[in-house]
Amino acid sequence: MEHKLEGLGDWRRTHTCGELDAVDAGQTITLMGWVHRTRDHGGVLFIDLRDRYGMTQVVFHPETGGKEQLERASHLGNEFVIAIRGVVSARPAEAVNATLSTGKIEVDARELKILSACEPLPFQVNEEHMLASEDLRLKYRYLDLRRADLSQLMALRHNAAMTARKFLSSQSFLEIETPLLVKQTPEGARDYVVPSRVHNGKFYALPQSPQLYKQTLMIAGMDRYFQLARCLRDEDLRADRQPEHTQIDLEMSFVTEDDVFATVEGLFAALWKECLGVTVQTPFLRMTYDQAMRTYGSDKPDLRFGFEFIDVTEISAQSPRNVIANGAKAPGGVAVAIRIPGGSEISGTQLRKYEDTVKGAGAGGLTFFKVQAADREKQQVIFPDALLDQFYTKVGALEGDAVVFTNGPWERTCKALGVLRSQIGAAELEKRGLNGKTGNEQEWRFLWVREFPLFEYNEDAKRWEPKHHMFTMPNPEHLEYLESDPGKVYAQLYDLVLNGNELGSGSVRIHRPDIQERVMKVMGLTHEQAHEKFGFLLEAYQYASPPHAGIGLGLDRIIMLMGGRDSIRDVIAFPKTASAASLMDGCPSVVDDDVTKELGIRFV
Ligand code: ASP
Repeated sequence: MEHKLEGLGDWRRTHTCGELDAVDAGQTITLMGWVHRTRDHGGVLFIDLRDRYGMTQVVFHPETGGKEQLERASHLGNEFVIAIRGVVSARPAEAVNATLSTGKIEVDARELKILSACEPLPFQVNEEHMLASEDLRLKYRYLDLRRADLSQLMALRHNAAMTARKFLSSQSFLEIETPLLVKQTPEGARDYVVPSRVHNGKFYALPQSPQLYKQTLMIAGMDRYFQLARCLRDEDLRADRQPEHTQIDLEMSFVTEDDVFATVEGLFAALWKECLGVTVQTPFLRMTYDQAMRTYGSDKPDLRFGFEFIDVTEISAQSPRNVIANGAKAPGGVAVAIRIPGGSEISGTQLRKYEDTVKGAGAGGLTFFKVQAADREKQQVIFPDALLDQFYTKVGALEGDAVVFTNGPWERTCKALGVLRSQIGAAELEKRGLNGKTGNEQEWRFLWVREFPLFEYNEDAKRWEPKHHMFTMPNPEHLEYLESDPGKVYAQLYDLVLNGNELGSGSVRIHRPDIQERVMKVMGLTHEQAHEKFGFLLEAYQYASPPHAGIGLGLDRIIMLMGGRDSIRDVIAFPKTASAASLMDGCPSVVDDDVTKELGIRFV
């Protein structure tokens, strides 16, 4: 069917589709938007007209709007863009739609303009329950973004960005842009590189973060910097990673860790208040990396549930059973237990699954006790005589509970039990009606995890690598071990954690060239290599740097949690797939031969 398309002419919208209310009854108005849905009620046509502000019910009556208008309206397809002029009328009480902001009124249409027709849709935009596959929705992202579900997340993101800017400006931060074409400097992940046409054979890199630039800005005296910075990393993607993500990136001069914490806490309090209407308690809880690992088996523990570890090393070491005692007795060994209240109900099959979980995560095995008389005899084989009661007292076990425990080298063992803790905790959250990982929970458990080890030993590459990045200041009292025992060096390095998610990492920085060079040396960089890669920063340090510290906070993940979503793709307007492709514009793509020729690039 041919539709007669018209221009705006002298029509202007007087209201959005989310605006009209009972007080507007009687007014003549003009609305423009997309046809969300049409319903033909035998001679009367209803259209839900939609824009990003909401939806308004428009009615075409033959008596008021005329037959010809009704006839044209009845041929409108979903997602046509139309303009209507009409009169607002209050709905009778029984017709009020309380779920719609405009549910008290409808618009009696008098004139219709069809501004744009829509081809048959690849999927229905008005389908809220049975969504089309994500790939199809990503290919037609502009259609998917029309859905209120996603457009509200875009609005949330905007509000959060504005709030962050407002808050940080109020704290004397300057928003400063740093370059997108930078020198290639390894920062942990792989760089995206951009060939230079002017300097054939040379490349720029896209920044993994503005780290070096923000530190240079401190040397430049900018004192407090922030930026909503795009960060690009050529990583193997995981569900909640994207090749490009945005950070609320900040850096401060003449501060300690505590000052960064206070600023960031203020920022989150403002974000939650402004965007969610929620008051978060500050200061946030703090714990060291060691505490977090030994108590929760994770450096980003979810504190919405308990299941804290209980240290049973001493008792386990006394067991006559080698599998229980040996790991606990060995130097650096631990035995850790989790009490599961009421856990004696758990089936044997389930308990064996728990064991598979910890074994899969690197522990040797898992022992489980049900706290019930019938089981005492076999438990006494492991903890004879009074030892069993000592064990139960230590873990605080009550009749009807279960206790699971394991032993071995501390970090690996705690980590493995931590995986089980998360699993049991997720089930518990589910029971409480909170979606395991993110959900729409109103329980926000922020946490600072601080004092991480500076290095991590890479077994494959046989070298020490920085746990975060190489610009992190070691604890002053650990500086003496830097060369002799790098594993013993802890750093002024911190993560902000929320409900089991890492929101960001930061540190007090090394501001002295001598310490910076020592750290690089531990990582196996020679003086020459260090200068080749980071020369400009090392040189800048020679002209006196203020002590400084900062953090990079993952904006996408923050919005995802605020919006109660599971995927960061939902909060990015044009996200990439898990294989770093954009289904909408088809990138990455091959380029013309002329382009590669000009760049001096030949493919092998
Ligand atoms: N640049 C760091 C990162 O991207 C954050 C920081 O240390 O401020 O993880």
